[in-house]
Amino acid sequence: MQRAFRQIYFDCNATTPVLPVAADAAMETMRSLYGNPSSTHLSGLQAKAILERARREAARVLNSDTSEIIFTSGATEAIQTAIVSMLITIRDALPSGQEARIAYGSTEHKAVPEALEHWVGKLALNARIEKIPVDAQGKLDLAWLRDRLPQLHALATMAVNNETGAVAPLVEVAKLVDECGLKQGRRPLWLVDGVQALGKIALDTRQLSFDYACFSGHKLYAPKGVGFLFARKSAPFVPLMVGGGQESGNRSGTENLPGVAAFGKILGYLPGPSSPATHGDPLFHSEPELENFRSRIVAALTEIFPRIVFNTPLAHSVPTTLNFSIPGMASKEILDLFDSAGIRVSAGSACSSAAIKPSYVLQAMNLDSWRCSAAVRLSFGPALSEEELEEGLLALREVG
Ligand code: PLP
Repeated sequence: MQRAFRQIYFDCNATTPVLPVAADAAMETMRSLYGNPSSTHLSGLQAKAILERARREAARVLNSDTSEIIFTSGATEAIQTAIVSMLITIRDALPSGQEARIAYGSTEHKAVPEALEHWVGKLALNARIEKIPVDAQGKLDLAWLRDRLPQLHALATMAVNNETGAVAPLVEVAKLVDECGLKQGRRPLWLVDGVQALGKIALDTRQLSFDYACFSGHKLYAPKGVGFLFARKSAPFVPLMVGGGQESGNRSGTENLPGVAAFGKILGYLPGPSSPATHGDPLFHSEPELENFRSRIVAALTEIFPRIVFNTPLAHSVPTTLNFSIPGMASKEILDLFDSAGIRVSAGSACSSAAIKPSYVLQAMNLDSWRCSAAVRLSFGPALSEEELEEGLLALREVG
């Protein structure tokens, strides 16, 4: 019997639905607490209180200081801000004629290499930009990094990959960066893309010495158009947006209060490295629960496609992302098949799935070319309910 139509949304690494608690928080700032946080009257003070509450939540989740959190329009803006800060600082300090050395992980989201390329050009910086190789699991080549670190001025590494879910060895990278700093008296400025890590793995700014980290609301059940940058107090900072002096002069422009309120609400449900969640009632599943969800999806996929090959290194990934290829099937065919059963997945990353090209992430992992061009990403969020999962499994079996 045909199932009643319902969308099974398994594309949460592209974006997530806005959860009712977040939508309610946003709605409240649009309908009643709609003041401008810069106004000095009561409405402004109420708006400011919402903004600062969200900042406290973000700081708690990262174990940082509230002064280190700057709200932005999303991760892409946070990345630009960090990169502009790094490049201008390097340019101003570099003896003339000397080349700046920059390295980024070869599986980074496009926002990082594109921003580096763009701003290096616009700032007329004499720079050599290199990609840090990864192994077949998507893990950064730490020996390569150890060799290059003494010469590097800037470094960008993502915490969790958006296509495969691979978790980066940030503890090891931090150790190398810190050792380099001790030996040399100088260490590269370090940006971490934490977008896909938020709500899945903890990032403790007191344990990991990165200078900047970027985050995006719409990857964790808040609306699109809001994110934040963590910029360490000791790290150089050059504002990208100037004007009214909002965000302590670090990011001018009237704040996106509905977005910030919604994101702040969601952050309140996350535990920090040394603090419990602010809201007691759990919204997100624990890692073992998510692992259980993933193994049930893996079992269903393997039952339907016995020759399936997983491109995600399951043992070294967040449980919410699966990337797979099926011999003899193009990703477009799999996508269409899933779509007809109401299951939304994507080919590689969302940004490139309109024109399906081989995944540069899988290519960097040196996987067979058929796997790179036939890859499908299935990603769910940490708030997936048991009922949604069951429906998804049923729909997957219908695909079979
Ligand atoms: N970094 C990663 C790892 C991402 O997955 C994304 C979004 O796909 C971004 C950065 C950019 O985020 P935003 O679209 O919020 O600017």
